[in-house]
Amino acid sequence: MTVIGKARCATCEKEKGILKCEGCLLTFCYNHAADHRQELNKKMENVIYKSDLIQQTLAERTNDLKNNSRMKEINDWEYKSIEKIRQTAEEARKEFRHTADHITQVKVRLNNLMEEIRQSYQENNYYETDLHQWKSTLSQLEEELQFKSWNSKLQHDPIPLETKISFETPTPRLYVPQLSIPYIKEFRKWSQNGVTFAGGNRS
Ligand SMILES: [Zn+2]
Ligand SMILES: [Zn+2]
Repeated sequence: MTVIGKARCATCEKEKGILKCEGCLLTFCYNHAADHRQELNKKMENVIYKSDLIQQTLAERTNDLKNNSRMKEINDWEYKSIEKIRQTAEEARKEFRHTADHITQVKVRLNNLMEEIRQSYQENNYYETDLHQWKSTLSQLEEELQFKSWNSKLQHDPIPLETKISFETPTPRLYVPQLSIPYIKEFRKWSQNGVTFAGGNRS
């Protein structure tokens, strides 16, 4: 506050302004200086109100985080996805082993048949019925090796790496904030100690 001689009050424009606000540099008479102070006071309370509002929202969000099952959902999703891939790979391995077993079987049967044919040939001991039987068995073995996947490449769908988990952002709720009462009280006391004007504790 600066006391100056006869200046005009910014509010009533009368030539009795004696207090100058250090904040806006306007001069006021005693009455209007109080009004001006009150106006500032109101603005200040709005600022405090707003910060309290944010603080409350922050507290709610923090609480939401604590109680949220989100982390569990992510873990579940991860576990289920890995489990699904593991199962699919296991099925593919099973099918592969089955195919390998089958080929081994065909090999054994072919070896036995070839041995039989070789012996019969050496001993010159075979007839039309034998030839017919062997031809038929050979055709069967040939056919058994014609399964689809043997000559084809491994077919698989790529795992979509761009997979994203997203959660709905909670809609901000409307609530009546509780003002931090002690702070407001203290502030009022400070603003009421008369002479001190804008600009904190300067006097
Ligand atoms: Zn005035
Ligand atoms: Zn002012």
